[in-house]
Amino acid sequence: MKIEFKKVSYKSSDLNYSKDNLKFEGSFHKTDYKTVKVSGSFKGSVPHVCDRCAKDFDLDFNEKIELKIVDGISEERDEDFFETIECIDSTIDFDEIIESEIESFKSDYHYCKECKEKEKENKNGST
Ligand SMILES: [Zn+2]
Repeated sequence: MKIEFKKVSYKSSDLNYSKDNLKFEGSFHKTDYKTVKVSGSFKGSVPHVCDRCAKDFDLDFNEKIELKIVDGISEERDEDFFETIECIDSTIDFDEIIESEIESFKSDYHYCKECKEKEKENKNGST
């Protein structure tokens, strides 16, 4: 879903997204004329390749996110704990934002079940 920055309401609107086994449920609203806040949570799983044995598996993805979309260039302040996304062309592309959240989650190391078990065994065995 794409929306023009200026058309985002100060009232909260629903934001839903789903792809394969993954769902995102959340909402967004404007907090001032150049800031939009998005919050919600992922539920489900994403297909992933194990970073240890290269096997395909379903990676559980249940996480809350909160982020801030700024129209133009953000003037980052230290007390901001929200992830900030700069909106360059005054149009917010929610699909792209959500997909990049999924990608950044997947870019961490994730092991399949068997490899997780093996990791545990190795740790226990090495002491
Ligand atoms: Zn594995």
